[in-house]
Amino acid sequence: MSTSDSLVVAGLIERIGRLTRAREAAGGLNPAQWEALRYLSRANAFSRSPSAVADFLATTRGTVSQTLIALEGKGLLRKSVSDRDRRGATLDVTDAGLKLLRTLDPADDLVRALANLPPLHATLMAQALSRVLGALLEARGGKAFGACAACRNFARDAFPDGAGGPHRCGRFDAPLTAEEAALTCAAFEE
Ligand code: SF4
Repeated sequence: MSTSDSLVVAGLIERIGRLTRAREAAGGLNPAQWEALRYLSRANAFSRSPSAVADFLATTRGTVSQTLIALEGKGLLRKSVSDRDRRGATLDVTDAGLKLLRTLDPADDLVRALANLPPLHATLMAQALSRVLGALLEARGGKAFGACAACRNFARDAFPDGAGGPHRCGRFDAPLTAEEAALTCAAFEE
């Protein structure tokens, strides 16, 4: 892509982000609270810790802790002791949080606008934006995050008899249902 085309695309991405964030006072949440709630509603069981939220939002543990305390105080998040790591915490979006996301998420306008694109455009756009994100993460550092299908630790249909799977995560040595395999993971490795 030429430099002038890159500038045009960068400007479009920036404007889309600004338009989306401009509505993020909806529901009484600030933009960071919406982003944390959205992330946690899509994250798998290995990725719902305060540190994973901080990594996803590219912010500090201290800043994210204020965001999580506010969400918990509004009854949108529940914090409990992690089953995997008894010293850590796991965060679950409550029914009230899921309802808020279903009814008032300011990102819905963007999702609807994207849903009107022809399927081929959407696929190409997802691939192109993933490459851009990868380049930014390489330059600045940070975790990739992603869903199981493209992760090097994912074994598809490892349990053909359906014993807890059908899929398997090699990294955590754990079975994965089809629903779990579609969620966002902080330990994703391309
Ligand atoms: S296979 Fe990869 S993306 Fe899926 S749970 Fe395991 S580490 Fe995470």
